[in-house]
Amino acid sequence: MLFGHDTAVALQGAAALVNTAPTPPGASDGRTHEGLADLAALLDFVRAWSWSGAPPTTLGELQAVRDLRPRLRRWWSADEQTVAADVNTVFEHAGASPRVVRHGDYGWHVHALPDDAPLDQRMAVEAAVAVVDLLRAGDLARLKVCRASGCDHVLVDLTRNRSRHFCGSGCADRTHAAAYRARQAGDAG
Ligand SMILES: [Zn+2]
Ligand SMILES: [Zn+2]
Repeated sequence: MLFGHDTAVALQGAAALVNTAPTPPGASDGRTHEGLADLAALLDFVRAWSWSGAPPTTLGELQAVRDLRPRLRRWWSADEQTVAADVNTVFEHAGASPRVVRHGDYGWHVHALPDDAPLDQRMAVEAAVAVVDLLRAGDLARLKVCRASGCDHVLVDLTRNRSRHFCGSGCADRTHAAAYRARQAGDAG
């Protein structure tokens, strides 16, 4: 295992959150919708990623989580210094107070904020704690943007040889099929 289970889950959860943001207009995969369209969608996301603590109940909380996405997305393209500064800003603003806890299927791990802290702050801090592991390992490059044309999804490459380049099998298949067709066309011409 490259990183602790909680780190891997936190990073993948952060990527999934970033990927709920609407695709910029003009993207070719047609995915322009808002993945967190309403409170119900946010509750689904919170459940799917096993967030413990107080569930969101207000549109203000929903908007705060939406607004968190571009801040997290920055970590997929920024350099180490910038990410480290961002992480420290997150810790400072949230007034992090780490506790070691155990719940659900998870073994002992750190919660840096109380369970009743605002959801967007808990999400930001959890992602920040996990990114610290990447920084410590000199492994920030594991935060990647999907290579498929027209896809701007982010992904976390947790493979041993850093060989993951696509957000999912759909994008991988589409890209490989296009490369195959291009080779065929080349052979025919
Ligand atoms: Zn936990
Ligand atoms: Zn993709």
